Amino acid sequence: MSKWSLIVDVAECHNCNNCFLATKDEYVGNDIKGYSAPQPLHGHKWINILTKERGQHPMVDTTYVPTMCNHCDDAPCVKAGGGAVEKRTDGIVIINPDKAAGRRDIVESCPYGAIWWNDELSLPQAWTFDAHLLDRGWKEPRCVQSCPTGALRAVKKSDDEMAVMVAQEDLEPLRADLATKPRVHYKNLHLFTKAFVAGEVLGEKNGVSDCLSGARVSLKSGGTEIASTETNAFGEFRIDGLEPDLGACEIEISHSDFSGKTTKRTIKGASVVAKTVVLKGSP
Ligand code: SF4
Ligand code: SF4
Repeated sequence: MSKWSLIVDVAECHNCNNCFLATKDEYVGNDIKGYSAPQPLHGHKWINILTKERGQHPMVDTTYVPTMCNHCDDAPCVKAGGGAVEKRTDGIVIINPDKAAGRRDIVESCPYGAIWWNDELSLPQAWTFDAHLLDRGWKEPRCVQSCPTGALRAVKKSDDEMAVMVAQEDLEPLRADLATKPRVHYKNLHLFTKAFVAGEVLGEKNGVSDCLSGARVSLKSGGTEIASTETNAFGEFRIDGLEPDLGACEIEISHSDFSGKTTKRTIKGASVVAKTVVLKGSP
């Protein structure tokens, strides 16, 4: 049996909000019998784009993470729903608009905050994966169709095929700790969940300083190297994917034509941009 999954590539999302707007356009004011009652014009974000800024001037990046109902295979909302929330054989989870009326407890059951309460209709609501369109032969939901960068992909695969894809593309869930077996998989999520160490290296020779490319940068924690890289043509380096609470670490910088230097920094909850390091060369 093939099931739907959504792939979100965080590195490709530019926060254009097309996916959010396309979903609004599909559901606001539209009563889709058996799938979804109309979404209110204001308040609901069935696709909710989170933002995170990392680093400090001059090395800063901003990451956008579209979030939505994960259509979990082990869904707390299905368990709480008592028949009002259905898991379809194609993997899609539907909050039945006829059976879920008045059930605010279903909103609370989702650990991702992906269910929204419709005050006017007294109804819990979430993104349905556009199941009504897929059931009519559409190949992808509207959010995917409207994404100009390819950050979103919808695939229909067996569990085994999906497991291969997860391994090959290094996909991960938004919150592994929740263990709900989500069908939304993220690529490059480290840009949101992890930290980086970055900096700039200059080489000084005969009183002249210039960007130093090809310098080896070794990041050590407790004396053990945990990652390494080389400076680029602008003398810059970046080591990403670090635990945000790595703690005290040393950045050792070396180059065959210059004297080496070690600088100490602490990674505590945020990325670190080290001060410019100047390596001295022999005249
Ligand atoms: S993300 Fe929330 S609403 Fe969606 S299936 Fe999982 S528990 Fe249910
Ligand atoms: S449409 Fe694509 S690029 Fe635009 S916000 Fe959504 S996921 Fe990101």
